[in-house]
Amino acid sequence: MKIAVTLALFLCSIAVHASPSASPLDSEFSASDDSKSNFPEPEVDENGIPIGMALVDGDILIPKEQLPIYEKEGFDGLVNSEAWLNGPAWPSKTVYYATTIPSNTPQLADLNRKIFDSMNDLNQKQNCLKFVYITAPIPQRHIVFNLGQGCYTMIGPVTPGNRHDIFLSPGCTFERIPAHEVMHALGRFHEQTRPDRDYYVQINWHLIKQDCISQYMRQDGASTLGLPYDYYSVMHYSPTSCSINGAPVMQFPPHVNPYNIGRGLSLTNTDIAHIVRRYCPSG
Ligand SMILES: [Zn+2]
Repeated sequence: MKIAVTLALFLCSIAVHASPSASPLDSEFSASDDSKSNFPEPEVDENGIPIGMALVDGDILIPKEQLPIYEKEGFDGLVNSEAWLNGPAWPSKTVYYATTIPSNTPQLADLNRKIFDSMNDLNQKQNCLKFVYITAPIPQRHIVFNLGQGCYTMIGPVTPGNRHDIFLSPGCTFERIPAHEVMHALGRFHEQTRPDRDYYVQINWHLIKQDCISQYMRQDGASTLGLPYDYYSVMHYSPTSCSINGAPVMQFPPHVNPYNIGRGLSLTNTDIAHIVRRYCPSG
């Protein structure tokens, strides 16, 4: 028994890097290369989409069996269905994460660096959730960053098991993207789809590409958590996202600088407030 406990503690100590002194940035190349061998490759189709999942709303994965609900009622149907967000959006105050992306090219090394920067930023800006780097699978639910053919993940834990996959391609190195996908993993939708967005944004529907229209549908079932609309959130699209001709598909009040929307490099104070209010509502 004693040997088993000692072994478990040893394995735990090499799997979890919680202290700043053990930052994955210090050993980026070896850490990510090691972790690649410890986590099974996700099963994906020829487009990089996990088997059994469908990509909707630009960067969100949902189980294929939920696709008919989504196509009929949008996310509101899923939010209200038993299959969606069954249980707490994240089970504990510790969010373990790993990356299986090899740092064997400058581009991929940069991608890993952006992941670690985002997680460090999350840890520095709030004390509600702790994001802890791991190098091997653990029994607790954890995020695994994988090399994909785009940037996409699920909203909250909609799949069984302890692993929540986030897919990033070499094109996902813009600083805000890892944080954006982590916010999805924590259960948050795109800011411009909030139930109250029509008070803050005017949508130019005729300028949106046909296959993007669902990305601007209002999600009346999503909660704002009582927080103000945040034009500069990492979860807000840029004014020209999905435009047919480059003209803005969203118009904003005069006090808002559209140039800064969808361009923020890191989580805003309101983004952080979303995490705290959802996971630490009592403070
Ligand atoms: Zn997104």
